[in-house]
Amino acid sequence: MGRYPSSMRCPGCGADETKVIDSRPAEAGNSIRRRRVCARCGNRFTTYERGTPLLMVRKRNGRLEPFSSEKLNNGVMAAVADRPVPREAVADLVEEVEVAVTAGGSPVASEEIGRLVLEGLRHLDSVAYLRFASVYKDFQDAEDFGREMAALGRGSSAGEHDKLTDEETTLGVGVAHDR
Ligand SMILES: [Zn+2]
Repeated sequence: MGRYPSSMRCPGCGADETKVIDSRPAEAGNSIRRRRVCARCGNRFTTYERGTPLLMVRKRNGRLEPFSSEKLNNGVMAAVADRPVPREAVADLVEEVEVAVTAGGSPVASEEIGRLVLEGLRHLDSVAYLRFASVYKDFQDAEDFGREMAALGRGSSAGEHDKLTDEETTLGVGVAHDR
């Protein structure tokens, strides 16, 4: 193969010396999914060798959108903001959810993704679990959750978020924008 596409660079530090630690067929054999570890910073991430995302997510409103592990990651990161949860644990959770929904085939319901995230968070951090659970019933979508938490962090809420407790509103302020 020629030069590496930029997607194989470490999303954490940008290094291109990454090591493949697992490969398997994905998306009904239409792509190869590779689990990689960064030689520089140890960050673990996943690449799909083929390019176009084939897994579609059916939102609650019926719309279909391509699955994005980055959006999923952002949603989970919002839930664990300021909690003692290692980034690697979040990456692993996103990875597990991605594997599960990919195996299930396209399209996957956003509710199913939310349910899997919730299941993973339950074992990871009780506060993050409760945070996610509190909005899951309203949004049922990790991506929407990330947006919601980010909105709370910007302090732009007025009345619309009165379903959330004071604690959750306070915790929402911790959402990081350090990308
Ligand atoms: Zn790295």
